[in-house]
Amino acid sequence: RTRRWQVECRPDIDSFTPGLLALYESLKPSEEHNSKQKQLVDSLTKSVSKEWPNAQLHLYGSCANSFGTSHSDVDVCLEMETDTESTAEVLLKLADVLRADNFNNVEAITSARVPIVRMSDPGSGFSCDICINNLFAVANTKLLKDYAQIDQRLLQLAFLVKHWAKQRSVNETYRGTLSSYAYVLMCINFLQLREPKILPCLQAMEHTYTLNADGTECAYFDKVHELQDFGAENKESLAELLWAFFHYWAFHHDYRRDVISVRIGNKISKQEKNWTTRVGNDRHLMCIEDPFETGHDLGRGVDRQTIRILREEFERAASVLQYDDDPCVTLFERYDC
Ligand code: ATP
Ligand code: MG
Repeated sequence: RTRRWQVECRPDIDSFTPGLLALYESLKPSEEHNSKQKQLVDSLTKSVSKEWPNAQLHLYGSCANSFGTSHSDVDVCLEMETDTESTAEVLLKLADVLRADNFNNVEAITSARVPIVRMSDPGSGFSCDICINNLFAVANTKLLKDYAQIDQRLLQLAFLVKHWAKQRSVNETYRGTLSSYAYVLMCINFLQLREPKILPCLQAMEHTYTLNADGTECAYFDKVHELQDFGAENKESLAELLWAFFHYWAFHHDYRRDVISVRIGNKISKQEKNWTTRVGNDRHLMCIEDPFETGHDLGRGVDRQTIRILREEFERAASVLQYDDDPCVTLFERYDC
């Protein structure tokens, strides 16, 4: 049983960093994976430009935010004028075009919060989601990518957390746990709050990049090459940070009161956001503010049962890193529920 009062991490924690780094290296996508992905994008661009010559194709999600593994799918956003047509009509037409060009399993999912066409590429086998004019996704993809360039510990930590979440079956939004995107935001906010800080708060700095998405300004400081030494004063190792991350979510986070916010680089109260009670399907039990769509809680699908599962998994992870003889293996043991 985990000891709640234990706040110091084990003295030999650093000895696990090399093993964790080796695992991180093994999760990074291969050159072959990247070139297959590029081929898919090229053939997709050809198909789309026949029907919509002015459409611009943007990659978003983990294939463009640098948090992608060899198992990640390819997320594409088309930026185009839609005139009088609705997004659903455009997606149905797009699905026809892709079927005619021999893409596999083409399906238009028009009822989702973000409507998409889903398909798979016969060449690579990759699955691919295509959305239309979702510029928030383009902006948050660039934001994550820019944070990743400031301190390498962010990518390392987030890869391991994403891998842990997939192995432990707590990366399934349709079942009430959290998206990969939510886990990456948790990692960024965590590193913004270390002492000394490992990451800055880019949205609170001078705005050197602005993108207008549906009338909302997505703006932040994007000259990240000027911030290369930002985290240098903090000497914490990967193993220490991974333990501290799980320990925070297991024992320190105030689930009743707090919302984590990458936008302000801190926590804010649920009260301030009016997220104190359930509104429709948004339960607001575990609150993660989207950096640009600030009314959007990425933990909104977490319910009474899944919050218990998540907290038990955070506790398990913290105690494995604290007491287990072989934490690099035990932490990532598969659990299928
Ligand atoms: P994976 O490697 O697991 O595919 P991913 O980074 O692609 O990870 P997803 O959760 O598939 O993560 O999300 C893809 C992208 O879609 C995110 O980077 C983000 O831009 C956007 N996104 C995903 N979920 C949300 C959400 N709930 N609200 C807003 N944007 C989202
Ligand atoms: Mg993805």
